[in-house]
Amino acid sequence: MKIEQDIIYLDNAATTFPKPEVVYQAMDSFYRQYGGNAGRGANPLARKAAGLVDETRVLVSAWLNAPEVIFAPSATVALNTVIMGAGLRRGDVVYVSPFEHNSVLRPLEHLRKTVGIDIRLLPFDKNTMACKLDEIKKLFRLEPPSMLCVSQVSNVLGLILPVNELTQITRQVASDCIILVDGAQAAGLQLLEMSRIDTMVWSGHKSLYGPYGIAGIAFGTSWRPEPLLRGGTGTVSESIDMPQEGVSRFEAGSQNISAIAGLNAALKWLHQTGREAINDHIQTLTQALTNTLSDLSDVTVYLPSDRNQITGIVSFSVNGIKPQMIETALGAKKIAVRAGLHCSPWAHEFINSTTQGGTVRVSVGNFNTEHDIEQFRSIVESVVCT
Ligand code: PMP
Repeated sequence: MKIEQDIIYLDNAATTFPKPEVVYQAMDSFYRQYGGNAGRGANPLARKAAGLVDETRVLVSAWLNAPEVIFAPSATVALNTVIMGAGLRRGDVVYVSPFEHNSVLRPLEHLRKTVGIDIRLLPFDKNTMACKLDEIKKLFRLEPPSMLCVSQVSNVLGLILPVNELTQITRQVASDCIILVDGAQAAGLQLLEMSRIDTMVWSGHKSLYGPYGIAGIAFGTSWRPEPLLRGGTGTVSESIDMPQEGVSRFEAGSQNISAIAGLNAALKWLHQTGREAINDHIQTLTQALTNTLSDLSDVTVYLPSDRNQITGIVSFSVNGIKPQMIETALGAKKIAVRAGLHCSPWAHEFINSTTQGGTVRVSVGNFNTEHDIEQFRSIVESVVCT
C-alpha cells in the first residue's frame, strides 16, 4: 500500500497506521450494504448490524481474555466512565503510576479538587525504571488503596509495567480496591490476569489495529461503575431509568457501527496473524530502534536497565536541540514521529525531560519493516549529527 507522500510512519503510539486492508473493506461495505442501527428494531438491516455488534463483542472478549466487554467512543470516555463512576469519596486514596496519561490524571485531579480524594504516586526507580514492589506493599499497608490506576505500557517510554505483580499485591492488601488498567497502548499484546482486574480500558485504533471511534472497557470481575451517560438503549424503553443489568447500561445512544465493523475485521486479522507473530515483529523493530539511537553521540535514549521491558515505543532527546525541532526536521525528510509531552506530564517529570520540552517519541507497528528502521537511521544521523 502506498502511504501519503511515501512517509515512513513511526507514530504508531498515536494511532496504528496503516490498518489491515480488511478493515477498510469492512467499513466501506457496512455503509454501502447494510447500514442499519443495531438494537433499534427488528428489520433485517437492524438485525444484521446487531449481529455484527454482538459478534465483535465476543471477539474482543476472547482477544482480551475478559468475561465482559462494553463499547465506548474512545479510551478517554471509557477511562472517565470508570473513574467518575467509581463512587470515590473524600479521603479515598488513589495510587497511580508515574506514567499515566492525562485521560486518567485529569478526571482524578477533578475528583481531588471537588470530592477530596488523595492521589499518590507509586514508587519506581528513576535509574532502572523498575517498579519498587516491596515498597508499594508497605505503602499499601500504611494507606490502603481505594483505587489503583496503572498503564499496561507507557505511551512515552514503551515501558511494560508489571501489571500482574501489582494487581497481585493489591489484592493481598486491599481486596476491595478498584483496579483500573489503562490498556490504550497495548491491549491484547500481552495477556493480563483479568480475574484480578476490575476494568481494563482498551482502544480500537491502537494495538487492535481498528479505526477511530471505538474503544471500551473489559471487565474482569463483577465490579461495575455507575454509568457516565444515560439515554436510549433500545431496551426496557418503558422505563426512564437506565437498565440496571447488562452491557446496555453503559451503552446509551447509537453505537458507532461502522467503526465496530472495522474493529470486527481487525480482530479477525489479529487472530489470523497471531499475537506472538505481531509481538515478535514489534520487539525486533524496537530493539533495532534502540540500538540505532544508542549509537548516536549527543543523544539520550530513555531506557530501562532491562531493555526487554519496552515494547513498540522509544523516546529520545538531543543535547541542545528542542524535540519539536527534531520532529520538524524529520518530518521534512518524510519521517513521522511525535515530539513533546505526549499528554503524560508525570512521565516526563520522571525522566526529567519537562523543561527541555519533552522527548521525541518513535513508535513502530506491525506494518513497519526493518527497511523503515534503516531509513530512519540514516535520516536521523543526518539530522542529529550535523
Ligand atoms: N491512555 C493512553 C496510555 C494513551 O496513550 C491514550 C492516547 N494517547 C489515551 C489513554 C487516550 O486515548 P484516546 O485519545 O484515543 O481517547
